[in-house]
Amino acid sequence: MGDSHYKILENDKYGRYLVASKDLDSGELIFTDTPFAFGPKPDSPPLCLGCYCPVENTLCSRCGWPVCGAPCEQAPAHAAECQLFAQARVRFQPVDDWTASSPQLDCITPLRLLLAREQDPTRWQQELVAMETHSAARRERPAWRADQVNIADFLVDHCKLGDRFSKELVQQVCGILEVNSVEIPSRGGFSIRAVYPRLAVAAHSCVPNIVHTILQNDYQVQVRAAVPIKSGESLHLCYTHALSPTMLRREFLMESKFFQCDCARCADPTELGTHLSTLKCSKCDNGVILSTNPLDNEAGWQCTDKNCGFKTSGAAMRKMLAVVQAEVDQLDALEPGPAAIEQREATLKKYKSVFHPQHSILLSLKHSLAQLYGRVEGYEIDELPDLVLERKADFCRLMLRVLDVLIPGESRMRGMVLYELHAPIMFIARNEFSAGTITQEKLKERLQEPIKCLEEASRILMREDPQSPEGITGLIAQQSMEQLKASLDAL
Ligand SMILES: [Zn+2]
Ligand SMILES: [Zn+2]
Ligand SMILES: [Zn+2]
Ligand SMILES: [Zn+2]
Repeated sequence: MGDSHYKILENDKYGRYLVASKDLDSGELIFTDTPFAFGPKPDSPPLCLGCYCPVENTLCSRCGWPVCGAPCEQAPAHAAECQLFAQARVRFQPVDDWTASSPQLDCITPLRLLLAREQDPTRWQQELVAMETHSAARRERPAWRADQVNIADFLVDHCKLGDRFSKELVQQVCGILEVNSVEIPSRGGFSIRAVYPRLAVAAHSCVPNIVHTILQNDYQVQVRAAVPIKSGESLHLCYTHALSPTMLRREFLMESKFFQCDCARCADPTELGTHLSTLKCSKCDNGVILSTNPLDNEAGWQCTDKNCGFKTSGAAMRKMLAVVQAEVDQLDALEPGPAAIEQREATLKKYKSVFHPQHSILLSLKHSLAQLYGRVEGYEIDELPDLVLERKADFCRLMLRVLDVLIPGESRMRGMVLYELHAPIMFIARNEFSAGTITQEKLKERLQEPIKCLEEASRILMREDPQSPEGITGLIAQQSMEQLKASLDAL
């Protein structure tokens, strides 16, 4: 591959991995990649196989599988499987509850990968065959058995494709998808999965240095440097949710990617000083509770104050996290409205004495509140008292401090938080000016900060697909910045 921005190396730890082959600026495009295949995630409810919106009782007139309407029957991604299902006379079996997950769609993405292999054998050989599948480890798990029945037996026996694909090949493809695919947003709004052979070569770190953007019309991915990267440094993607605590990140990576992460963040009980996993001590006022060995989920946790001696087990900690997380997940089901704010504030208060203020659970509540204040009925931005505006701004600044360490550089999340931050700062300055507590000169000076927020937010977010929520926010940020600058000039 003659690309001048990166190269592929190989070692024992990562297998194949990517390194920068020149110095890269933050935001610089490193490469683009087209998906080898994309489609529904496992356990999806019935989705349109053209645009991935939820469907109810609408089936393709040719093959009898879910599509939302005539245009999606013609979708290029659906063409090959449509013909195949129609020929084999294998139809989707209607379900009672069209919103419940159904294993029937689990075969679609593996089938698309198998069909893509036939259509592009060269790319399969060059980019897919070498992909890690962790077959030995997968074979030990119940999911292997489910894939064998729902996918391998279904495609080979039921759809009579035995002359084209062996069951071993089907399992290889399931492994490629499980280990290497990434979740991406779709036009229909549901998230789906895709395999990007070059992106998949990037090694994992819990502190990534690259970002990827999906373009929604053809699902191309653009991979950029999030921070300045020196020639020779490796390129790292975060395969898991970067703002979850170490215990949950490592569990997810082991479960779904089959490795024990031992990156600098995982090895540090304080998560590089961000305290995403840290608890307050209920026995003393001096210490906090940290894992004695974050690289071992079974390891005990104890108070940092030597005189306190409070201890608890890894298992107890894991259980407590699960209970509180379930409670927080319920809040995510609330419609954005006054209750969404009030119940989150109540939950924050309830756990204030349990968790460090930057613990992942409290941080995610604060992140949601930063987005809700100013946006829901009864809490409109121009009606918020200064105290609440300050609270919104504080939550945004807290997020930015954590992001600086854990997802450094020009990430989507940073762009969105900066956009949220500009509004309270702007309104506080204007309120103070109207109240006569600051001069016009001071107002002009104070409005430089929201301008900077909008400038950076629009720069980051305008790289996103213009149809995506982030892309739309990027455009709004740019327009707001121009308006704010114009209003300053008019002062
Ligand atoms: Zn559709
Ligand atoms: Zn069809
Ligand atoms: Zn890690
Ligand atoms: Zn203590």
